Amino acid sequence: MKGVEFPIFKTKSEATGQSYNFADPSERKKYFEAKAGKQIDDLKRYLRTNTFVAYLLGKKQAGKGTYTKLLAEVFGSDKIRHISVGDLVRETESAQKDPAERKRLTEYLSRNYRGFMSLDDALNAFLNRDTKTLLPTEFILALVKREIENAGRVSLFIDGFPRNMDQITYSLYFRELINYRNDPDMFVLIDVPEKVIDERIKYRRICPKCFTSRNLSLNPSSIVKYDYGLKEFYLMCDNPECTPTRMVGKEGDELGIESIRNRIEMDDKLIRRAFELHGVPKIMLRNSIPTEIADEITDPYEVTEDLEHSIDENGRISTRSKSWEIIDDNGIPSVSLMPPPVVISCIHQLHEILIT
Ligand SMILES: [Zn+2]
Repeated sequence: MKGVEFPIFKTKSEATGQSYNFADPSERKKYFEAKAGKQIDDLKRYLRTNTFVAYLLGKKQAGKGTYTKLLAEVFGSDKIRHISVGDLVRETESAQKDPAERKRLTEYLSRNYRGFMSLDDALNAFLNRDTKTLLPTEFILALVKREIENAGRVSLFIDGFPRNMDQITYSLYFRELINYRNDPDMFVLIDVPEKVIDERIKYRRICPKCFTSRNLSLNPSSIVKYDYGLKEFYLMCDNPECTPTRMVGKEGDELGIESIRNRIEMDDKLIRRAFELHGVPKIMLRNSIPTEIADEITDPYEVTEDLEHSIDENGRISTRSKSWEIIDDNGIPSVSLMPPPVVISCIHQLHEILIT
């Protein structure tokens, strides 16, 4: 991040020649055990009787959901829960078509919502809003509180709150609001070069049926095809629970990061603000490592490769990987890490905060 230095975490192992295929869950498990086995054991013991609350702050497309999913895989989804406030608002909104659910929500809010806008007005804004109308923070907090009560006592990774500068202060008292009085809380700050976000958006492909998201060059599905009319490669959805469907880009994605520039700038401000906070522990995760020191810091398979597809005159498609160098936000040639090594760094820092 420009001007803010995120520490570099070494994940390189002493053993040479060992490598893991991150696409395979059993190999991921071995990888995590090899690189953070002790920390994982300690934390698992801790999580049997304790919970914590973490606020994820990273720019859009920083991988917040991916990292939390991997942590839940390591510690168990009964122990770690990802709450995306954006998804929660959308899901709660669409659930209101059911009159019984609408009644339950209204009853809950009449007991738990406090704010300057009346509950009726807030509910109206919620149900009839265009995406630009901002919902009162107090209302969003009540929705999150309800979700947390339903989830039971698990550790939380909250994503999408705080979402603006005013909400930073709320987040300092949030654990009291949700009755997690003595829970340790912390910020998880994620640093991802804008170039990486740009490529993630530009080549993002989504299955219109099951909404699985992939990336044409960074994370393609197993079926790559070529469209002779458009002269472009495309992906077919390979989710075993879906039928093979052509994956598509979202309108505006071709603009890359520019399509979400306002959001990116707000996220940037939020991270900087959280960085200045005192009294709350911070986990600092970085997606990129200067190329110059990549070899001493990481193992080769931990680095993201860019994939290039080509087609020969017989229509045979082949995919070749090449190393992917990006220029980070400070102008330094860098490589981008795969999600598991970033999660290793997260586990080590969690251990430092909760155990040692
Ligand atoms: Zn699909």
